[in-house]
Amino acid sequence: MDQTTKQNGLTRRGFIRTVGFGGAAAALGIPGGVDAQAPAAAQAAAMPRRKLGKTGAEVSILCLGGMFDTINNQLLLRQAYNWGVTYWDTAEGYGNGLSEEGFGRFFTRYPETRKNIFLVTKFRTSPPDKLSEALDKGLKRLCTDYVDAFFTHGISDFSQIAGVRGWAEQMKKAGKIKWFGFSTHTNMEDCLLAAATSGWIDSIMFTYNFRLMNAPKMKEAVDACAQAGIGLTSFKTQAGGQVKPDSETEFKLLQKFLDRGFTDKQAKLKAVWENPHIAGICSQMPNLAYLSANVAAARDLTTLSETDREMLERFAHETRSGYCAGCGRICQTAVGGKVPVNDVMRCLMYYRDYGDREMARDVFAGLPAAARSQLSELDYSKAEKACPQGLAIADLMAEASRLLA
Ligand code: SF4
Repeated sequence: MDQTTKQNGLTRRGFIRTVGFGGAAAALGIPGGVDAQAPAAAQAAAMPRRKLGKTGAEVSILCLGGMFDTINNQLLLRQAYNWGVTYWDTAEGYGNGLSEEGFGRFFTRYPETRKNIFLVTKFRTSPPDKLSEALDKGLKRLCTDYVDAFFTHGISDFSQIAGVRGWAEQMKKAGKIKWFGFSTHTNMEDCLLAAATSGWIDSIMFTYNFRLMNAPKMKEAVDACAQAGIGLTSFKTQAGGQVKPDSETEFKLLQKFLDRGFTDKQAKLKAVWENPHIAGICSQMPNLAYLSANVAAARDLTTLSETDREMLERFAHETRSGYCAGCGRICQTAVGGKVPVNDVMRCLMYYRDYGDREMARDVFAGLPAAARSQLSELDYSKAEKACPQGLAIADLMAEASRLLA
């Protein structure tokens, strides 16, 4: 397995297992569930759609994240399509190309669907010649001659894509991509603010959720992108953390929202959709329980009340020291750049919140060897002082070293 594959987060072996995001049972039998008996056209039409910034594309507000076994879940893809979930997201790194292959099989089997799907794929930052090669391979796996949007995957600084602008223009002219952008789960606000003034970014997928959305800098960044016509989609909207909140706190939240007619997970989606600048939420939905619960949430027009929002804010505040907010520049600077602290935190999130130990270990193995070897030996006192979430960084790095090495 090459380094890129590891960094992208999943091995082929790990990909084949169904991704365990936890909580699927809570999604079953939910109030407001989808009526599977309604005619197909009516079901698809019931999915709300929003304009993706200046691209003008109308996309479903619920987007299918492809970080699961798409090859062996073709019926799930079909059901997502039937329910109007027509923004599909994948990446070269998801299953080392297997996710793209699964989408490709679907398009081969149902060629008439391709024109109705807003298809996104993502590649890690590379020189333009490598990107061209990777894009061609991706298109082949996807069994299509274009993607609607191509994203550089997981940038932490806008300068990482500075050399790609000309390449993006060329690919647009060649008809291989319609729109260009990036995804980011690190230093998101800075990346968005830089994109907003760049004049050449069409769309961004970024970490955005009920924990982050009320921070003034995040609000400024989202507004700036909206003003610049950049189409925004969010991911990691459930905001699971490195430390699991105690079950009592989570259970109370669930009970309160069930009284309102939806689950806490659906409430977290609603909180994001309430910002009209977010065109869609990209969600990993590896089984029908997740898909139907999220589709029900998207179709349900009930808005959150002031009390609902306060409950989410209180929950975010009470559990903040268990969630890494992705502001990696702060802690990395504090440790002299020796350890990508927030990347290690992300591995812990895969381990704890997703419950996917193999993926956590694979991503961890892709981090620089020097960083991994000194993980439990560094002095994190400055980083802990600077961390706005108050995370116990030293303890968590020691845990990561023990659990993931
Ligand atoms: S550990 Fe703290 S400072 Fe570092 S990225 Fe996470 S929240 Fe930010």
